[in-house]
Amino acid sequence: MARYTGPSCKLCRREGLKLFLKGERCYTDKCSFDRRPYPPGQHGQRRMKFTEYGIRLREKQKVRRIYGMLEKQFRSYFDRADRTKGVTGEAFLGLLERRLDSTCYRLGFAWTRSDGRQLVRHRHVKVNGQTVNIPSFQVKPGDVITIRERSQQKVRVQSALEGVERRGVPEWLELDKEKLTGTVKTMPNREEITLPIQEQLIVEFYSR
Ligand code: SF4
Repeated sequence: MARYTGPSCKLCRREGLKLFLKGERCYTDKCSFDRRPYPPGQHGQRRMKFTEYGIRLREKQKVRRIYGMLEKQFRSYFDRADRTKGVTGEAFLGLLERRLDSTCYRLGFAWTRSDGRQLVRHRHVKVNGQTVNIPSFQVKPGDVITIRERSQQKVRVQSALEGVERRGVPEWLELDKEKLTGTVKTMPNREEITLPIQEQLIVEFYSR
């Protein structure tokens, strides 16, 4: 599946929020958003007034960018959530959170979700003992996610664990730092997704 490969920091500045797309750098004073907290471009420093549509569009774009997806794939997650029982917005975020690349990030095996994606694509990750190289693979309660033994000493993986010290592991996951193993305890619930997201706006955007 295709993905966005352009400049990441511009996305944070566009959305007016730190999206933590560059890992370690995001926590240093090199962060572009800390230096220039206004949208990119010639007119970036002008006061922006959003329409109702614009507010919903920005919310959708923000979440899409957090999870590093292009529109077609993102929309297909929404359609899937829309077909499930329960609250669509929560089901939607649950589907995004349970992607294997995102789970690797939440467990601290990667600095960012896109690093998590690369880890999975390069066959460093096993689920229940089997190598899985599909970043969109959906984890479920009871699944055990490990970093392949040969890859455990990789500097990138080891340094990424520092990131989880700052972020913390969500309640729905359990991390064994020594064995580089994570277990999915339950389905993620809305309170554990601490990102500043108003999913209702995305539901309204797609339901217009
Ligand atoms: Fe966003 Fe700052 Fe990280 Fe760049 S360094 S991706 S602006 S949080």
